[in-house]
Amino acid sequence: MSFSNEIRDELCRIQKRRPCCELAEAYGILAFANRFSADSIRISSEHEGFVRRAKEILFNALGVSFDVISGDRWKLELHDRAAISTVFSRFGYDTERHVTMHFHGWFVEEECCMAAFLRGAFLCAGVCADPAKSYHLELSSARGAFLRELLVRASELSFTLRISRRQNGYLLYAKESEHIEDFLTFIGAPSAAMRLMEQKVLKDYRNRINRQSNCEFSNIRKTIDAAEAQTVAILQLAERGLLHELPTALKETADVRIAFPDLSLAELCEKFDPPVSKSCLNHRLRKLTAMARELDQPAE
Ligand SMILES: [Zn+2]
Repeated sequence: MSFSNEIRDELCRIQKRRPCCELAEAYGILAFANRFSADSIRISSEHEGFVRRAKEILFNALGVSFDVISGDRWKLELHDRAAISTVFSRFGYDTERHVTMHFHGWFVEEECCMAAFLRGAFLCAGVCADPAKSYHLELSSARGAFLRELLVRASELSFTLRISRRQNGYLLYAKESEHIEDFLTFIGAPSAAMRLMEQKVLKDYRNRINRQSNCEFSNIRKTIDAAEAQTVAILQLAERGLLHELPTALKETADVRIAFPDLSLAELCEKFDPPVSKSCLNHRLRKLTAMARELDQPAE
């Protein structure tokens, strides 16, 4: 099941509703309906629970009975003009003169009602990406003016939502996990918000582990690269028969490096008797590689 529908499941379990909130949820559902016009109102969803809840809420709040149609997608429809006119006027709209649909904020003045309104809107038109993959929540609508006015009201409640235009309309969306969590908690889906939070902790943890092992890996790589360069240099000196001409300390260093090509500098120090310091060994190895490098240069 999609994460969006898991959220719908959770929202549909909310039963205790005040009349003010029921009206607000009905408003949220209708404002984001697929069709809301003088000749028909249609809500279409793959989520049966939502469609059944919407029918009940619309009836309780407006006294109007929508037809439920089952199929690939579930639909709620209203075609009776008188009933549609009742619905319109209940929310301050007029079927005759209605052109641009504006957001009527007086239905959602209380916070409980705003939560119910957004719940209805999400149930009807919300999408939330699976938090294991990405953070994205959106409400889409063809009504730009309505969304912009709703955005103003939402930001008064310190929600961080953004608006953008897309091909067939507009989007209200959030991309930060905290903003999505706040939104879900507010509309009555705290379990979904909790899942988001858990995923975020898990993701942060994985990233930290990855960074750590990348760092460890690159240290190992550096050690191997350095040891390899030193070994190659010593072999070049040996090829030219120069090893036995070296001062004792350098000769000994060359022998130990060749004997233990995989060891790090610190480990190599222990192979000397008595052990030498890291800086001393480093100095000697540098000297050996510098001598080998000089071999490559043309004599002057
Ligand atoms: Zn209320």
